[in-house]
Amino acid sequence: MNSTIDLIGSGLAGALMSLYLAQAGYRVNLFERRSDLRKVTQSAGRSINLALSARGLHALEEVGLKDAVMQQALPMRGRMMHDPAGQLTFQPYGVHAHEAIYSISRGFLNEVLMDAAEASERVSIHFEQRCLGIDLDSGIVQMQDLPGGKHYSLSGNPVIGADGAGSALRQSLISRLRVNYAQDYLDHGYKELTLSPNAQGGFQLDPEALHIWPRQRFMLIALPNPDASFTCTLFLPFESDADTPGFDQLSSPAAISAFFETHFGDLPPLMPDLVAQFEQNPTGVLSTIRLGPWYHGDRLLLLGDAAHAIVPFFGQGMNAAFEDCSLLAARLRGQPADLASVFVDFYRARKPDADAIADMALENFIEMRDKVADPAFLLRRQVGLLLAQRYPDIFVPKYSLVSFHRVSYALALAHGNLQQQLLLTLCEGLQRPEDLNWQQAEALVQQFRREAPALNLSH
Ligand SMILES: Cc1cc2nc3c(=O)[nH]c(=O)nc-3n(C[C@H](O)[C@H](O)[C@H](O)COP(=O)(O)OP(=O)(O)OC[C@H]3O[C@@H](n4cnc5c(N)ncnc54)[C@H](O)[C@@H]3O)c2cc1C
Repeated sequence: MNSTIDLIGSGLAGALMSLYLAQAGYRVNLFERRSDLRKVTQSAGRSINLALSARGLHALEEVGLKDAVMQQALPMRGRMMHDPAGQLTFQPYGVHAHEAIYSISRGFLNEVLMDAAEASERVSIHFEQRCLGIDLDSGIVQMQDLPGGKHYSLSGNPVIGADGAGSALRQSLISRLRVNYAQDYLDHGYKELTLSPNAQGGFQLDPEALHIWPRQRFMLIALPNPDASFTCTLFLPFESDADTPGFDQLSSPAAISAFFETHFGDLPPLMPDLVAQFEQNPTGVLSTIRLGPWYHGDRLLLLGDAAHAIVPFFGQGMNAAFEDCSLLAARLRGQPADLASVFVDFYRARKPDADAIADMALENFIEMRDKVADPAFLLRRQVGLLLAQRYPDIFVPKYSLVSFHRVSYALALAHGNLQQQLLLTLCEGLQRPEDLNWQQAEALVQQFRREAPALNLSH
């Protein structure tokens, strides 16, 4: 067994993977392009907080960090919808009262992971070291020391790439024959804005919810932070058209103010510095990356966003990346001497799940920005919850399978598609959930039970 691994990228997946590897007895050289975020203040505007759910929590528990992380986590028990008139409606995420997703600071989480990795004394983190690519025939990785500008190389150790959506290692991999690759950009970009605490230092919105302002082709969301602020994210097309505004129109303070007054009228009174923030903060791009294979022999394996970046609308990118680390670590424990088999097995098992969550994340964008305000969708959702309460072992909503359980993403997608068909049939002509035809429901649920792949809900 080669007991040293070179790992590129000390973001969320890289820092966690280094800890798993350390706990499995490996030594890890971890190279990170940026400076140490524990020593410098982070720049605003880059997904300051994230929704953490079952898959991510499970990985943190495996490495012994769940309790430390949960001390700073804020439960979000459902979606709080803000309609154009400022009316609020709450939709719980779960079927059971304890089911919540958690808002967590990206910076804090990354720090906890890096501290624990270094404390293992098996991980050395080298900051401001940029990976330029890998020669897959020789296994030589080209690096650059950013402060001095000097180029150098790494060789002799297997390489794990956790260098994110813009991965330099992936660039090397896709230049090979028979590597499939697609990057699909969303027409929408995103901009983050901070909603500060009120004058008494308290939250300005309900902190136990993920707030959504659905506006059909665009939306704004807000997640709470422990300092009583909220991080708001506007998702808007880059280019406007006849029906929908776009970032291209928001080029003056007057246009920005008018846009928020018109579409998100309850926000400007709570955010006096809205225009200044809007002008200062960057506009980010969002894309889905589909890659296969994402390994090369026993030399290179990619994980997290480097292998399968997804759009953020299911709150699963980090959770999926953490699940990658957990699954890879389990395989390494099982077959430590045969890295080539570990890499190929991991890829074959994980690829259908990566594809499934990529699709579900795109679907969820439409659900969040548009359908959550559609009465027919809300009726189906209410009926779905009734079925979930009456048939808890058979009918588990797709959202719950993804966020509160650890069944494979592909299985969650298959169940979700069958549930959708069932609900469309059951809700045909229905006006109110109270009028549900339970005899028809029973027959459809039993048919669903026969057709749907089996669930093992201990996962
Ligand atoms: C707006 C937004 C909201 C999101 N919300 C959620 C959410 O609520 N829940 C969720 O689960 N996920 C969410 N995500 C997704 C989540 O941020 C990513 O899936 C997650 O960060 C992936 O982790 P990673 O370690 O693979 O990549 P990253 O976190 O991007 O880390 C990559 C690391 O590699 C370093 N690096 C990059 N290139 C090089 C190089 N050439 N050499 C050396 N180092 C390099 C980077 O500096 C970085 O530290 C969101 C994403 C966005 C954009």
